[in-house]
Amino acid sequence: MTRGDVLVSVDNLSKSFTGAEGHELRVLHNISLDLRAGEIVALLGRSGSGKSTLLRTIAGLIAPTTGSVRYRGTELNGANPGTAMVFQTFALMPWLTVQDNVELGLAARGIPPTQRRERALNAIDLIGLDGFESAYPKELSGGMRQRVGFARALVLEPDLLLMDEPFSALDVLTAENLRTELMALWQQDNFPTKAICIVTHNIEEAVLLADRVLVLGANPGHIRAEVPIDLAQPRDRKSTAFATLVD
Ligand code: ADP
Ligand code: MG
Repeated sequence: MTRGDVLVSVDNLSKSFTGAEGHELRVLHNISLDLRAGEIVALLGRSGSGKSTLLRTIAGLIAPTTGSVRYRGTELNGANPGTAMVFQTFALMPWLTVQDNVELGLAARGIPPTQRRERALNAIDLIGLDGFESAYPKELSGGMRQRVGFARALVLEPDLLLMDEPFSALDVLTAENLRTELMALWQQDNFPTKAICIVTHNIEEAVLLADRVLVLGANPGHIRAEVPIDLAQPRDRKSTAFATLVD
């Protein structure tokens, strides 16, 4: 696998849910996209445009109504083995320590205890949680909790890291720190993931992090525009241009 190879491809994906009175709620319409090794892609759209639903179908947590999601060429039939997810609200297990939260997914994958421990400690160290192995989530700040969320995802060494508004629940300074650290880690050769797909409703965040931004329109969610990020352009000018694309 080299830079530019397709990790995940979504083809003509549509998703409907059945509403309370049995009517059909169309959430995603005819979405096609590729996610490639080496890139960070932002899915940008307003609340309700179907961003989380799209991310969950890529993760294989929900099945498309029509169309398909493929991972390394194979159509998903259940969870996507090449992905791990970071959630807006962290979704940690409050009764487990940091270490045990990070090890949980490895246990589910049948990794033996000694390897689990070593991999978890590496991920904890990588994300700056050294010394907090025995702490419980409630003892940690929001920023530290989200670090646990990152460690829990990265320890799985997913080809594709999926992040659903990972910084939205944090204060602006904490979010800024964590974003900067993530970008520094992403540049390192030992970063354990090949591509990132981040969902956000924050234009500046999308422009700052991504190589490519897919702008989703709503009702039903569809890809409205695909915008490559030209790093030579001033950032603020780009943000203004984006504002006209997001409905
Ligand atoms: P976003 O993440 O962009 O805010 P979502 O993907 O969460 O959007 O939701 C898009 C639409 O789909 C919303 O109208 C939401 O209520 C609806 N929706 C999401 N999940 C379900 C579900 N499991 N059942 C019914 N409707 C859902
Ligand atoms: Mg969402």
